[in-house]
Amino acid sequence: MHPQRESLDFDIVFIGAGPANLTSALHLQQLIERHNAASASRLEAEIAVLEKGRYPGAHLLSGAILDPSAFELFMPDYRERGCPLESEVTEESVWFLTKQKKIPVPYLPEPFRNKGCHLVSLSKLGNWLAAEAEAMGITILDNTAAVEPVIENGQVEGIVTDDKGFDKQGAPKSGSERGMLLSAKVVVVGEGADGSIFRQLDREFLLQPENRKQIYETGVKEVWKIPAGRIRAGSTHHTFGYPLPSSIYGGGWMYAFSDTEVSLGFVTSVEPARPVVDPHHNLQLFKQHPFIQKIIDGGTLLEYGAKSITSGGYNTMPKLYGPGFLLTGESAGLVNMQRQKGLHLAMQSGILAAETLLASLLSGDYSDNTLADYRKRFESCDAREEMYGARNYRQGFDQGLYKGLVHAGLRLKIPGIALAEKAAPAKENRALSGIKGKTFTPDDSLTFSKSSDLYRSGTVHEEDQPCHLLIDPNDIADICRKKCTEEFGNPCQHFCPAGVYEINLDSNPILRLTPSNCLHCKTCEIADPYGIITWKPPEGGGGPGYKLS
Ligand code: SF4
Repeated sequence: MHPQRESLDFDIVFIGAGPANLTSALHLQQLIERHNAASASRLEAEIAVLEKGRYPGAHLLSGAILDPSAFELFMPDYRERGCPLESEVTEESVWFLTKQKKIPVPYLPEPFRNKGCHLVSLSKLGNWLAAEAEAMGITILDNTAAVEPVIENGQVEGIVTDDKGFDKQGAPKSGSERGMLLSAKVVVVGEGADGSIFRQLDREFLLQPENRKQIYETGVKEVWKIPAGRIRAGSTHHTFGYPLPSSIYGGGWMYAFSDTEVSLGFVTSVEPARPVVDPHHNLQLFKQHPFIQKIIDGGTLLEYGAKSITSGGYNTMPKLYGPGFLLTGESAGLVNMQRQKGLHLAMQSGILAAETLLASLLSGDYSDNTLADYRKRFESCDAREEMYGARNYRQGFDQGLYKGLVHAGLRLKIPGIALAEKAAPAKENRALSGIKGKTFTPDDSLTFSKSSDLYRSGTVHEEDQPCHLLIDPNDIADICRKKCTEEFGNPCQHFCPAGVYEINLDSNPILRLTPSNCLHCKTCEIADPYGIITWKPPEGGGGPGYKLS
């Protein structure tokens, strides 16, 4: 019970203003209006969408290539309504990179093609969808983080929002406010990869079975202004190979939003068993490849950001519903790594969630019996067919790039084929031979340090607030100083794309945190080999301020 909190009552609360939940809120409102136009019994529903960023889209980042199939389903006039589309895909290539050369993949099979898709800034798209939702009467609560589900008698009945105005020690500052209790008949969780409400629901309702654990990558992205004449608007390039060794999954992209603006980035697999990776460093190396350098040299870096990506595919999707809640988008595991996209799947999940919510609102039944229809709807939709067809794609690369490519080729002939299962990777210490051996001096023109890049992410937090990266001081003394130093060389100082973790073996404690730099990518919680880091949302409004990503 949370008797001391102010409370607000809603019918449906969406956690996360990403493409899945905004689509869902919009479509639910459309369905309610259609129902009211056709029926004598009027339905009214109070719908709220929570966004922890300081405006909708502030925390949204993706490549991004948008397959418009979901828009066609719920808002076919999206172009006329002013949906921010940067360009249509005009040409596409996939390259294998060596350190100096690029080798084209001569034939692009169907799943890898993007004809008819749009290049978009997800941040702009989310901001626009939120404005559309507000225009339909939906309440958008930005600057508001959901920190805890309210569970009464086994049923989710709402959420608690973030406390504001408390200092580092947790003492109230002037104007402090306790978080509110938002009660809801159904809570829809669409927080993106590794969400904190998802994790709490998982603990309570066992959504992600132990034998189907989710896997993740970290994507690090930059948007550049470049001189005209180097690339054509709508060109898309995907790469694999350099700078990654064949044992690590990942690759790069460059999308031309226009003749003078490109989105580029690099995805690196992050695994607790193999945590010694530096996604930011990989991006800097990627940009130094002659292919990329030739395009962006002399340009201007406009924006930087990072996010983790849910990549396990169909076989690692969690249970999609429970008593009083639904999961959408990446919270539902909906990313197709074979097509390297998930926006359309996220939006489709939002549409299915909206249909399920309408049925629940009409029947007044919010139990998991009724909400189970969401899974049934998913089982007979295009998104399921696509996810099922691409199952095992990412896992095929667990045994390295070359076996993965063979597997990917075979899969096109025999969808769903799986290579013989490999045991979970043994813990690898690549601390000395890997990252530590590399020296990197950014030139502040083509390559940038983490702190310079961070400056272009718009990241701000209230400095004097409780640290949102929870690590037990005993673990810092025992695990960070001893075990982790010996086994991995303290990989947190490398894998965080914002440089939040600094290790100084000569000081006590050896770990210094700068949580105000956090990009909310969750890489630390995912890649930490000992599971001692818990990421919880800081005060709402903190974090990156993406505008172009
Ligand atoms: Fe990402 Fe964690 Fe670093 Fe924040 S502290 S930027 S969540 S890795």
